[in-house]
Amino acid sequence: MGFYNRNEFFCGFVKVKVSDTYQVLVVGAGPTGLAAACALSSYGIRCRVVERRTEPSKLSRAVGIFPCTIKRLVNVGVPNIFESEAMQLCKVQYLQAGRPLLFLDNRGAAYKEYVGLGLPQNRTEEILRDFLLEKGISVEYGIAAVEIESSNCGAAVTLSDGSADNFDWVIAADGVHSTIREKLGISYPGKDLPQPWGVADVDIEGGWDPELVSVDVQKPGNQFTIVLPMEKQRLRVVATQPDALEALEYPLKISKVRSTGSFQISIRQAESYRFQRVLLIGDAAHCHSPVGAKGMNLGIADAIAAIDAIVEGRVDSYSVERHKIGAATIRKTEIIRRIFSSNSSVSKGFVRMLAKLIVTFPAARHAYIQNLTKL
Ligand SMILES: Cc1cc2nc3c(=O)[nH]c(=O)nc-3n(C[C@H](O)[C@H](O)[C@H](O)COP(=O)(O)OP(=O)(O)OC[C@H]3O[C@@H](n4cnc5c(N)ncnc54)[C@H](O)[C@@H]3O)c2cc1C
Repeated sequence: MGFYNRNEFFCGFVKVKVSDTYQVLVVGAGPTGLAAACALSSYGIRCRVVERRTEPSKLSRAVGIFPCTIKRLVNVGVPNIFESEAMQLCKVQYLQAGRPLLFLDNRGAAYKEYVGLGLPQNRTEEILRDFLLEKGISVEYGIAAVEIESSNCGAAVTLSDGSADNFDWVIAADGVHSTIREKLGISYPGKDLPQPWGVADVDIEGGWDPELVSVDVQKPGNQFTIVLPMEKQRLRVVATQPDALEALEYPLKISKVRSTGSFQISIRQAESYRFQRVLLIGDAAHCHSPVGAKGMNLGIADAIAAIDAIVEGRVDSYSVERHKIGAATIRKTEIIRRIFSSNSSVSKGFVRMLAKLIVTFPAARHAYIQNLTKL
């Protein structure tokens, strides 16, 4: 850790003075930026976290958090409040045009480390923020990164309050529309799906098993819906059409609609996760459809890998390795999205065959369940 205890170093033959106070700037306090700050604190590295929003988001995008993600966070010291608060999503049902196709009950020791959990993203963020506060790190809300100049020795960042500072490293966790990525000219190739998707967050009066995730595929018009519990009497509904609740083919006993909205899906990946002293993590590095609930989980894994790579002095391998993992995740997510939304008899038959394999052969079932939440 010697490198981080000094505030001067040589870049070529030039002596460079870095910030006396902070060595790392984290841009963005979504789940991945917060996770990066937690990992930094576990190494005793001081950081600043700046966030454009004026206060924490009260909305939740992600719901699914995986055991491997929790393990990563616990390894950097975050208390495991997740497991006691989250819904254990151990039952999965697939409906094909409303008719039961597959039901899996994955309770029990054999699947414990693979069963996904349901927790609102804003609660995950709150747990991370509380941990950072205990470490003396508070997110600086209402401050955006607006300019950046990077070299092989450090990065100078201008903030929206007019201040500027130099950092050893900048972690760009500023989401899909990353200012840092754009300012550095890192391309983010891919595509945007034309059709907006719908999302709703509802309280229910009961009548839904809080351990059950339901996927209704290949409905008319190539639509599908996903329903998953966020809390005991709170559900998330996602649909491939703008009105998520209208898309549902079965009634829910809704007592309150907390929020509804639509969103556009982009499938993109940054060409590199590193530019000199800047590392990209989370949605700033990749984005894809929420099918499979992987985006935040992948981003948190990036965050911890990025900080490990800085500490261990292997940032180039960070970019190469995480890019590969990101590309594989995007590929898998896209295959599932396409199969779910295809109305062709071939893909319908394929889904039915897969369901039969999973139900019949324990090895196929195990491989399938592992694949759902392994990153
Ligand atoms: C409907 C939906 C459901 C989803 N469900 C799941 C799920 O179940 N599981 C899962 O793993 N993923 C899910 N995802 C994906 C997940 O929400 C994202 O992958 C995750 O939020 C990415 O986190 P992030 O920290 O990288 O980016 P963000 O959450 O977008 O955070 C980026 C932060 O940076 C801030 N910022 C932006 N620009 C600047 C700047 N210049 N300076 C300072 N701050 C800045 C923003 O205000 C924001 O707070 C879902 C997504 C959607 C849309």
